[in-house]
Amino acid sequence: MLLNLLLTFTLLMGRVKSDPDPLQDYCVSPCHSSHQQIFLNGVLCKDPTEATVSDFTTSALSRPGNTQTKPLMTNVTVTTTANLPGLNTMGLTMARLDFGGSGVVPPHVHPRASEVTVCLDGVLLVGFVDTSGRVFTQELHPGETFVFPKGLIHFLYNIDTVSSALAVSGLNSQNPGTQIVSLSSFIPKPPFLQEVLKSAFDINGQDVARIRKSLQR
Ligand code: MN
Repeated sequence: MLLNLLLTFTLLMGRVKSDPDPLQDYCVSPCHSSHQQIFLNGVLCKDPTEATVSDFTTSALSRPGNTQTKPLMTNVTVTTTANLPGLNTMGLTMARLDFGGSGVVPPHVHPRASEVTVCLDGVLLVGFVDTSGRVFTQELHPGETFVFPKGLIHFLYNIDTVSSALAVSGLNSQNPGTQIVSLSSFIPKPPFLQEVLKSAFDINGQDVARIRKSLQR
């Protein structure tokens, strides 16, 4: 009886499982194209007998990123299947975030991942806004951790104008994707119709031109 119930429950749970998350922005079916060109969701796997410990190790995050040459005084270094092949299909990405004085990771979203950040050095102001417009923001000191829910707009900011800061993030996708709100709005390729931006942000044509120009860095 109990076994039957358990079996039924398990079967039902299997039925209501949602689809697995896509690993790419889109994956258009090739069935209508004249020539078959298929793109794999992820990368190929090597023969498991040829896997070595180096496939699961990387020093990609060991070196400080150069923040001085960046307009926002921040440098983000991430693990990928190129620098850490063992990550393939594991649903994980790590990021090292170096901040110069007043460095900022501007408002952005990851469409395929939640992000958890631990501050290792300096003081960071971090936050996100939910879909109702409510803001959650916090000062992070070394050792403190903050979570950014999947798909919500969030930012990180070094509140010290001089000293550098350092944080490390984990994201629960092999390909989290990043859309920076300002860049995606004002300088996508090709650009949105100017009228759309004028209406959306209640600004004039000169404002649109000025913002576009200053973002082309
Ligand atoms: Mn992020």
